[in-house]
Order: sequence, then C-alpha cells, then structure tokens
Amino acid sequence: MSDTDTALDFDLDRLRGGTPPRNHDARTIAALTANPGCARRGVMDAAGVDKDFLARELGFPSPFGQSQFAITRGNVFEAQVKADGCAELLTLLRERLGLEVPEVAYDDLEVVAGNEGRELRHARTRRLLARALESGEGTLFDHPLLRLEIAGQVAYLEPDVIAFQLRGRLHVIEIKSFAVVDGQAEPEQVAAAARQSAVYVLALRRLVAELGHRPDRVSHEVFLVCPENFSNRPTATPLDVRPQLAVLERQLARLTKIDRIVGELPPDLTFAPGDALPEAVRAVEARYAPDCMSSCEMAFFCRDEARACGATGTLGRSVRDDLGGVDSIGTALGLAEGTLEPSDDLAETAVQLRTAARLRREVLGGAA
Ligand code: SF4
Repeated sequence: MSDTDTALDFDLDRLRGGTPPRNHDARTIAALTANPGCARRGVMDAAGVDKDFLARELGFPSPFGQSQFAITRGNVFEAQVKADGCAELLTLLRERLGLEVPEVAYDDLEVVAGNEGRELRHARTRRLLARALESGEGTLFDHPLLRLEIAGQVAYLEPDVIAFQLRGRLHVIEIKSFAVVDGQAEPEQVAAAARQSAVYVLALRRLVAELGHRPDRVSHEVFLVCPENFSNRPTATPLDVRPQLAVLERQLARLTKIDRIVGELPPDLTFAPGDALPEAVRAVEARYAPDCMSSCEMAFFCRDEARACGATGTLGRSVRDDLGGVDSIGTALGLAEGTLEPSDDLAETAVQLRTAARLRREVLGGAA
C-alpha cells in the first residue's frame, strides 16, 4: 500500500468518525445517480459514511425503506413469477413480448451446495456465465452474485433479478411489486427501477469484460416485470437504461477521484457524533431538491437547511435550473422586483425575471 493510500484511508476514517465504512448495495449505488451535483452526498458516499445513522444523530431521521407489508407482497409476487423454474416468466416473455425464447435452462445461483458464502457464489456466477457466453447455452440465471467497485471498495450485489440470455446477449429482468395500471406505472417508481437495473447491467458488463467478452453482450434493454391492474398477474415492459448507465458511470468515475474530493475539504473535518456535527455537515455544500426525499437519508436535514436559507432548490430542480445561478428565493424576488442590482453573470437572468414579474402583474391586473 502506498503512502498516498494510507493517508487517504486515514482521511476517510476521520470523516467517518472512526466508524467502519458502510457497505453499498444496489439501492445505495443507484441512489448515487439521483443527485450527482451534490458534493455533500458525494463525500459521504465516497467515504462510506452511514447516512442513516448520521441523520438520526442530527435529529432528522428519515423513514426510509419499504413497509413490512410491501416487502411481504414483493416476496410473494417474486416467488410466484419464479416458481417452477420461472414458468410464468417464460410464458410472459414468449407470449406478451413475442420473444422467441428457445429451450430453457434455469440455474439458481443463490446457494452453492448448501453454502451461501459470497465469494463462492460469485465464483459460481462467473463460471456459469463464462460457459453460457462461450457456448450460447443457458437461458435463465437467478440470483447471480455480482461485484462492483465503488470508490475503491468492492460492493457485492445480490439482485433478485435474473440474467436472461437471448440470441447471445444477456438481459436483466427486474421483478418489482408496484402495479402497472392500464399500461401505466408511477413514474418515480419506474425511474428508481431503471436506475437500479442500470447498476446490475453495469456490474454484469464489467464481469463479462473480465471474462474476455465485449461488454455489449449485456444489453441496455432490461425487462421490468410487475403485477398488472392490482391483480397478481405479471406483465413485462422493456426499459432502455442507457441514460441511467451514462449517469452511473460518470458518478462512479467521480467517486474514484476521492483523494481530490477529500483534498478540498477542511483538514480536520469529521462527521463524528457530537455538538459540532451539524456544523461539520453544513461545511460540505449540498444541492437539495424535493426528489432527495425519495433517494437520500439526509433529506430531512438538508430540506430544513435549504428552507431556512430560502434556497431555490426547495422549489424543485427544474425551477433551480431555470433560475441559473440564483441560489436563494430572496435574491430571485429582489432581482424580479428590481430592488437588487444583478452582478454581471446574473444580468440576463435578472432581465427574464423582471419580464416574468411584469407579465404576472399584467395578468393579475387584467383578472382584477
Ligand atoms: S438529501 Fe442532502 S446530501 Fe442527500 S442528495 Fe439531497 S442535498 Fe445531497
């Protein structure tokens, strides 16, 4: 290990306040892409800080995670779809999506000869996928155990998904228990499923590349399987996860440059519990937006902070983006009303805000 690595380990240890790094899983990796511009989240994730613990220490616990009811419903639906060697899933792929699925081989990689050790399971996943890629044989691989390196740490991914080989390409099948009603599902849930599937696609692509094959042997098209119209009958929808993959790869590359990120922080910064914790967290810039509420454990703390300083992000990411470099609602109002003189870089935004304010006055005046 080099001196630089040792120094970095020491810095990360200090940031975490001496606690061990939190392991990533597919959900936490997928969430990395939800707000890539947030330095606070970037630092905490790179250092492996337990954000859930930190939020509780700050007095802003987040009610993250699924309810027991949703977990049970999800498990029942998944077991039904995968029963009898994925019989129902195969019917769905053949009949509903019109895929020509040939004779089927099904391998469950969850347990190896009664042994659930992660290294052993990952080795078996590698072996079976290598054979399938060479021979074109093998169709369904249930519970493949994948690995992905995040900021120098290896994260094991234990997806419920299935890797499905069709015409020499592997597709990820993600089974979710939220309903598709009249062909529509909750967009936020579909977006979260797409982000999570992209993590599996990337991990599978890296494994396929390690095995000496082209990464595009893993397709960017995944199949999302959900219950249809509140029944337990499954339906499948193809999803193109290329945009999510691009964001994920960019964000992971950013996290590997962790020494640079850490180098820009105050040298004695630590997220150790104590009176100084809120100040330490505020020392790292955040970019709060309402969608943080569904993707980050720090959301209640950051929302409180953003509201207290009237940050434009509290109005939503699109409003903040439309306002360019104007970070506070007070500044936006001052520019719109002409009570604040804009700096050179905000001159154009100020003109647009004044025009919008004038139009609003005219419309409201007309209505009166
Ligand atoms: S909740 Fe806070 S730390 Fe998390 S992504 Fe949003 S702004 Fe960043």
